[in-house]
Amino acid sequence: MSFTTLGLSAPILKAIQDQGYTEPTPIQKQAIPVILSRRDILAGAQTGTGKTAGFTLPLLQLLSTTKPTKPKQSVRALILTPTRELAAQVGESVEVYGKYLSFKSAIIFGGVKINPQLTQLRRGVDIVIATPGRLLDHISQKSIDLKDVEFLILDEADRMLDMGFINDIKKILAILPKQKQTLLFSATYSEEIKKLSDKLLNSPVLIEVARPNRASESVKQAVYPVDQVRKRELLVHLINEGKWQQVLVFTRTKHGANRLTGQLEKDGITAVAIHGNKSQNARTKALADFKNGEVRVLVATDIAARGIDIDQLPHVINYELPNVPEDYVHRIGRTGRAGSEGEAISLVCIDEHEYLANIEKLIKNDIPKVWLKDFKPDPTIKAEPINQGGNRGQKGQRPSNKSGGGKAGNAKSSQGSPKSSSGGRRRDK
Ligand code: AMP
Repeated sequence: MSFTTLGLSAPILKAIQDQGYTEPTPIQKQAIPVILSRRDILAGAQTGTGKTAGFTLPLLQLLSTTKPTKPKQSVRALILTPTRELAAQVGESVEVYGKYLSFKSAIIFGGVKINPQLTQLRRGVDIVIATPGRLLDHISQKSIDLKDVEFLILDEADRMLDMGFINDIKKILAILPKQKQTLLFSATYSEEIKKLSDKLLNSPVLIEVARPNRASESVKQAVYPVDQVRKRELLVHLINEGKWQQVLVFTRTKHGANRLTGQLEKDGITAVAIHGNKSQNARTKALADFKNGEVRVLVATDIAARGIDIDQLPHVINYELPNVPEDYVHRIGRTGRAGSEGEAISLVCIDEHEYLANIEKLIKNDIPKVWLKDFKPDPTIKAEPINQGGNRGQKGQRPSNKSGGGKAGNAKSSQGSPKSSSGGRRRDK
C-alpha cells in the first residue's frame, strides 16, 4: 500500500516523498482514512510507530480542504503534548509535512521567553502545538484565542495524566468549542484514559497498533545482571567494546544522571545529561549535540526523555530500571523505531529484581539474560531497598508501585547483614 491510496493531496504527498517514506506505517494506514472521514479517534500507539505523521498528515489535509469557520486570526487546530521536547518535535513534523502548504504554526511551551510567542500569536496562527502549562498562561493573558478550534489532538495523553496535567487539561477543554474533531493518542490504556476519552470523544473509532503495554518487536532486549557498584564499569565496557557512537542511557534520578555524565566524561566518553532541572536551552543543545554526533551518550531521566525522537537510535541502556514498569516500555520505544532494529540493554543489580519481575509481567515475556564472565554479580551481596531520593514528590513522579514498596519492606530485613552494609553501594539521590 502506498500513500497515494490514502486520499492525501499532492502537496502533502510531495512532502512525504521528500522525507523518503515509501509506505505508510500500520497506524498511518488505519488512522489517516478515519481522520479524513471526520471521526474522532482513540488510538493506542507508542512513539516510534509513526503516529505523529498519522495525525499530522490528515490534519493538514482537512485544514487545506475546508474553509476556516471563523476569520483568519483564530487558531484552527490545537495539539497538546506532555513535554517541551515532544511539542518541538510535533511542531517540526507540522512544518516538514506542511512545507508545500501555507499554514502558520506556533510551538508554545514554558521555560523560554513568552514575548516571541506573543508576537507570533498576535500575527495569527492556524495550528498551535503546546504543553498545557504555558498554554494556560496565554489563555489567562488572553493572548490566544481558542474559541474556534476545529481540531483537538491530545498526544501521549497517558503521559499527560501521569505528569499531573489533568486539571490543566480540563481547564483548556472548558474553553474549547463543543463542536470539534478530537484525536486522542495514548501508549497505554488506564482507567483515567478511559474516563477522559468517554468525556471527550464523540463515538470514537478505536485504533490500536502494537498492543498496549507490549514492548516493540523490533527491539532486541537483554538484561545484564551486574552488581550496582560495577554498573558504570560495565557500561563503559559495552560502549567501548561495541564502539557505540550513539547511546541513550536512562537513570532514575536527575542527580544520578548528572553524576553518571561526569563519570563517563572522566572515562573519556563524551556525555551530556538531560533532565527537568536543565534549562530549555540546555536541553535543546544537549539533544542537538547528541543528534549530530558531538556527544556519544545522552543520559536522561524518564520525564526528560519522553518524546525524544532520534531516527534509528541504535542503543538504549537502562542503567537503572524504572520503578514504574510502563516506563520501561516507553524507554525502549526510543530505539527500533519505524522499522529499524534497535537494542535495549538493562543493567540489573540484585536490588532491582522485583522491578524486573514487574516489567516482565507487564510485557508478558522474559527478557533474555546475558551473563558476562567478568561482571558476574557477587552472590553474597543481599538486596537493599532502592532509594527514590531526588525524584520524590516532584511533578511527574508517580507513586512507586505496591510491589516496589513490598520489596523495600522485605529488603529491609537484610540491611543489617555485614555484607550488605559493607557493600559500598552507591545510591542515586
Ligand atoms: P513517531 O512515532 O511519530 O514518533 O515517528 C517515529 C519515526 O518514524 C519518525 O522519525 C518519523 O520520521 C518516522 N516515520 C514516520 N512515518 C514513516 C513512514 N511512513 N516511513 C518511514 N518512517 C516514518
